[in-house]
Amino acid sequence: RTALREMKLSAMKNEFVSNVSHELRTPLSSIRVFGEFMRRGRVEDPEKVREYGSYIETESRRLTQLINNILDFSRIESGHIAYNFEATDLEELLTGTLATFSIRLRDKGFEVSYDGPDDPLPEIRVDANAIDRAVANLLDNAVKYSNGDRRIGVELSRSEDGVAITVTDHGIGIPHDELERIFERFHRVSTGLVHDVKGSGLGLTLVKHIAEAHGGRVTVESEPDKGSTFTIHLPINDQQEESL
Ligand code: ADP
Repeated sequence: RTALREMKLSAMKNEFVSNVSHELRTPLSSIRVFGEFMRRGRVEDPEKVREYGSYIETESRRLTQLINNILDFSRIESGHIAYNFEATDLEELLTGTLATFSIRLRDKGFEVSYDGPDDPLPEIRVDANAIDRAVANLLDNAVKYSNGDRRIGVELSRSEDGVAITVTDHGIGIPHDELERIFERFHRVSTGLVHDVKGSGLGLTLVKHIAEAHGGRVTVESEPDKGSTFTIHLPINDQQEESL
């Protein structure tokens, strides 16, 4: 059984390397092409210059996110990831994440709606960067697996024992028997459209790790062809409320 596991792991690693190389290559070649256009002075129309500039910006962001994911993953695997918890206004944090993200989606016709809490939330102790990365990963997936329906909903709300951050898409959805496995490292659903969508299979592993590091968890509800809803649950414990 050990040999079988080793073989499976080795196959997953190979696939991971090939997926990541593919993901790196695509933004790099766009950056190169747009950079070259600009260097040759082929683009004079200021509107076009802005457009190409924004492509370069978007693609570099994608590269940074991918590299951050890989670095986070390797820190998690080696047990060297450190979180820095500080009292944070989650609403401010989330609107910041959405603002950065919507720059990427500006021209792609995505409609991102945001629904905030009914009453102001208490500040809670989180690692703001980590939560930002977790939500960015969920948004990234909502876009990647949207399959034509470009509505994405983000909600921040108070739940029974804490707060919930929810990202909903109306995309391809996930088969029921895959719902647990998608959080495993490198795991990608291998049917249908997913083959055409690039990915490293690390995003959800990181989201799960980050949620759990905060004493929380991540849950998913999904219906194939209808869409998916991912929720990061973060607890507010008494100690937190007292110290704020
Ligand atoms: P990837 O880099 O492959 O997107 P993730 O760990 O983020 O890696 O996701 C694992 C797998 O879960 C994806 O390959 C995809 O099959 C599935 N998945 C994740 N998010 C969604 C979503 N919003 N809609 C449909 N499928 C999803």
